[in-house]
Formats: sequence, C-alpha cells, structure tokens
Amino acid sequence: MTAKNRWSRHPAEILRPGEDFSLSDVDARATPGWQGDKRQGKEFARARGALLSELQERLFAQGRAGGKRSVLLVVQGMDTSGKGGVVRHVIGMVDPQGVVLRAFGRPTDEELSHHYLWRVRKALPTGGQIGVFDRSHYEDVLVPRVQGLIEPDVWEKRYAEINRFEREVVESGTTLLKVGLVISRREQGLRLAERLQRFDKHWKFDPADVDARTRWDDYQQAYADVFARTSTDVAPWYVVPADRKWYARLAVTELLTRALIDLDLSWPKPRWKVETQQRRLAETMEPDAVAEARASEKAVRKKLEQDERAFAAAVAEARH
Ligand code: AMP
Ligand code: MG
Repeated sequence: MTAKNRWSRHPAEILRPGEDFSLSDVDARATPGWQGDKRQGKEFARARGALLSELQERLFAQGRAGGKRSVLLVVQGMDTSGKGGVVRHVIGMVDPQGVVLRAFGRPTDEELSHHYLWRVRKALPTGGQIGVFDRSHYEDVLVPRVQGLIEPDVWEKRYAEINRFEREVVESGTTLLKVGLVISRREQGLRLAERLQRFDKHWKFDPADVDARTRWDDYQQAYADVFARTSTDVAPWYVVPADRKWYARLAVTELLTRALIDLDLSWPKPRWKVETQQRRLAETMEPDAVAEARASEKAVRKKLEQDERAFAAAVAEARH
C-alpha cells in the first residue's frame, strides 16, 4: 500500500455532532480531518479497498458459521448530496454477495398500510451481512413533516420510537453507522442544473426536487432535529460535509473500515477436526495427488502467515 494515511484523527471523533453542534455552522465544502488534497484522498480511498474487502470477508465467514454480527450503513442527505455515489463506491470495494442494498423511495400503498418501520425491519441485514440503506426510516421524520402530511404530535413521537428501534437493532448484533451527507444550497442548485443540462442525467431529475428545494430551510430544520434527537451512544450520527464528493466517499470508507475493525473479526473455527477431514479426504485421492498436497503444505502455511501478518499490520496502521 503506497497511499499515505493522512487522517489526523479518526473521522468518527471529528464528524460526530457534539453538545454544541449546529447544522447551520457546518461548512459543506470542508474536509475535516483529512490533511491532504483530492488526488491523495482518492488514492487513499482506493487503497482502503483491500483492507475493507478482507474485513468484509471475515464478517461474512462469521455469518456463515452462525455469527450474528452485521453492519448497517444508513445514508441520508438532501437530493443530489451524493448518496448514490457513496453507496456505489463502498459496495464497489467489497464482495457483492455480502452486501444487501435497499433504497427507500416514496412508500407504496402496501407500505403505507403498515407502520413506517415495517419496511425497514424487513430490510435489516442478517448475520455476516453489510446492509446499506439509501434513505431510511429517517425520511419519515423529514418528508411528511415538512410537507405537513402528519401532525407535529405524530412526528414528535417518532424520534423516541426510532431511538428504541435502533437500540433493539444494535442489541441484536448490528453495528449501526448513520451518515448524514451535508450539501450547501448553492451546490445543490449547481448539481440540479447539471442534471437538467445533460439528457443522460434527466433520469435522475425529479421535478419534486425543485419543490423540496423551495422548502430548503424547513428541511434543514428537520435535519437539525434528526441529528440533535437521534444521535445516541449506541447509534450516533456522523455528519459528513459533501460538497466535495471525494471527501464524503473517503470519510464514509474510513468510518466503515474502522467500524469493521472494531468488531475484532477473526476467522471462525470449524466444528470439525482438520486432521480427521484431511485423513478422510486422502482416502479418496490418488497417492500421487496426496503427496503433491502434502508437499505444498509448507508453502501454503507460509503464505497464510504472511497474509495474516499483513492484515494485522494494516489494522494497526488504520488504528494509528
Ligand atoms: P430518490 O432517492 O431520488 O430515488 O427519491 C426517492 C424519493 O422518495 C425522495 O423524494 C424521498 O424523499 C422520497 N421518500 C422516501 N421515503 C419516504 C417516506 N417515508 N415518505 C415520503 N417520501 C419518501
Ligand atoms: Mg432523486
């Protein structure tokens, strides 16, 4: 790995809203904690891929062995804030078999006939999986609130309900990583304008995006309340400046990598004895093939030890 780690501190410490947090004070163009430029940031995010994918394979292996732990990355943000890009980037670095992606759009008639958490519960990751939510249950304290579709006493109660729900999710073995992408009003205008300029981006444009933009301040207030009322110890928010796409992707990559490292993932122990199975297998093989397998044993073990040392070093480096 040649790309240099230029994080001054763990982004979780920097991006977690504290007591005195104010959304209106967030500079969406800032790159907090990263002491490097765009090129270096992109290089480092790419270099993280190897570690991230090894961590994910370990998580997946534990799931196969009956392990209950999983990770859920929740991505929220205004239209054009780069949710799709973050999701694509993160998923692009790991084995798609171990990832379950769910994008939450306007509720269908069936979804509307249930409690708002119904569709969310169904989409939760199971043991060994990395779940990714592109929008989430947080839409239910944003859109209907701003549009006045539900009364204040209804959305008011939802914050505590969401906190209880998330505590349950965490207690069942899921690490919750909630990322709020913060884009400036000006940058959103420019990104929407670009979507309109390019016919290959028209599919991403929704006239409702302009309606939501006319309620910008109301959405900011609703987001501020989300961060203030649902950032808990078991499920904190990370507020990520997102006017620079490379920074948002880099920061989420680091948050996810560190969250997986914190799970202390080892390879699961088999329920059978290696020697017994080797003996049984050998009985089914030609003698020369058995000899060949035995001859390679030393080299295989050496390579494995090298890989394990490299992994331990990469983990130690990431924790620097
Ligand atoms: P997109 O993410 O661009 O595909 O758009 C999905 C749309 O669905 C956005 O306008 C969201 O605000 C909207 N949406 C998602 N969840 C909800 C919800 N629970 N209530 C109302 N609108 C929602
Ligand atoms: Mg959209």
